[in-house]
Amino acid sequence: MLKITVIGGGFAGLAAAITAAECGARVSLYEAHHTLGGRARTSEGPYRTNDGPHALYNRGPHWTWLKQRGLLGPLAPLPLLEGARLRFRRDGALHRTPPLGVLRLARRPAEAAPVDTDFLTWATTAVGEKAARAAAHYVAGTLFHHDPGSLSAAFVQERLRRATHLPSEAHHPRGGWGQVAERMAARAWDLGVRIETTSRVDALPEGHGPVIVATTLDAARRLLGDDTLYWTSGRTTLIDLALSTRRGDPCAVRDLDAPGWLTAARPDGVRGRFTAKDLTPAPAGQQLLQGQLPIGPDRSKSDGTARAEALLDLGFPGWRDRTVWRRDGLANGRTGAVDLPGTTWRDRPAIDRGDGIYLAGDQVAAPGLLSEVSFNSALEAASLALRGSRRRALGNHLDLKRA
Ligand SMILES: Cc1cc2nc3c(=O)[nH]c(=O)nc-3n(C[C@H](O)[C@H](O)[C@H](O)COP(=O)(O)OP(=O)(O)OC[C@H]3O[C@@H](n4cnc5c(N)ncnc54)[C@H](O)[C@@H]3O)c2cc1C
Repeated sequence: MLKITVIGGGFAGLAAAITAAECGARVSLYEAHHTLGGRARTSEGPYRTNDGPHALYNRGPHWTWLKQRGLLGPLAPLPLLEGARLRFRRDGALHRTPPLGVLRLARRPAEAAPVDTDFLTWATTAVGEKAARAAAHYVAGTLFHHDPGSLSAAFVQERLRRATHLPSEAHHPRGGWGQVAERMAARAWDLGVRIETTSRVDALPEGHGPVIVATTLDAARRLLGDDTLYWTSGRTTLIDLALSTRRGDPCAVRDLDAPGWLTAARPDGVRGRFTAKDLTPAPAGQQLLQGQLPIGPDRSKSDGTARAEALLDLGFPGWRDRTVWRRDGLANGRTGAVDLPGTTWRDRPAIDRGDGIYLAGDQVAAPGLLSEVSFNSALEAASLALRGSRRRALGNHLDLKRA
């Protein structure tokens, strides 16, 4: 039987372990943390927050894969009035719609945008500088980057199209992403994957078989001692807020004057209230807001927090008095890959590192949006590891026959 080792028990590690085990391999998975899920964890307690405003996009490859295996689970219902309760800040005031130029730009196919030019330059020639800047800020909600206009036009345009798609691609698993990770872990157990948590791997054992390193790229760089394992990512202030509900609150505010995004994790007061108490992200009568305000490398967390508060002042009157719980955070280099002009996902660190070592994660050479990169690379790493170990087994067999 083929033996495969997976290091890291986040979304990528679990997807790789399940795929390899489904193909008949004997899989051992090592996770440094005491729980599985990685960045797809959901915090315990009355406020079940994901690590930042996390959405599962239903046009992604992971969607069908999870669904086919019954791992997607129940989703928070999309409020019928969501579109009507979405607000955009532009020129310092709240509006119901984005500028027309942004919508016009979003209709252009991703293939029309060049890889080698930055998004702002390309979009400015198409719709003028003001709308181009607004479009760059629009897409910052899915990029977690402080200056999306400086990134590759092809990369940003593909994400702008997905972020503006109607009906929305974004869905929220009930009980948070942690529930999806738990279901994936249960599936892995059922398939006989040996899972060891609180088990950090600091070095690969001598004579190791196929290994899938499904950690962050930073951790893989340290583990493999390979300084070339680097790719650009975003830096963003995070804010989680439980507010007492007020009629008329928007369900989300997207900042088009600067990169920033506030969204209600529980769209209260509209159809489809959550019923099962243990699955709610916030107690009754309250709504949970999650926000992300991307900041540059020279900016501090408090700069992002100040911008979040300005956005709250505009969109959620009286929010300070209504706040029952709050948590601020910073995600630095943890929000997935972004591609600079002249680069695509193909230029990121390759999955196959040679010597039976394969990388999986959201900053490696695989296509997709955010966690879709982890998923795509996990499947590719598992299939390469299986192929590699079959080839090795066949080689050993032939050597034995020759001997
Ligand atoms: C604020 C924020 C918002 C996001 N929003 C979205 C979103 O809306 N939609 C979306 O699709 N994606 C989103 N993402 C991205 C998504 O969370 C990640 O792409 C995905 O969770 C990455 O999974 P992974 O398994 O590749 O890495 P991780 O989740 O980081 O898993 C790596 C695992 O490896 C373990 N590990 C590390 N080193 C070792 C070692 N030496 N030995 C053993 N184990 C080790 C870690 O403990 C961890 O559990 C967001 C991320 C952040 C931070």
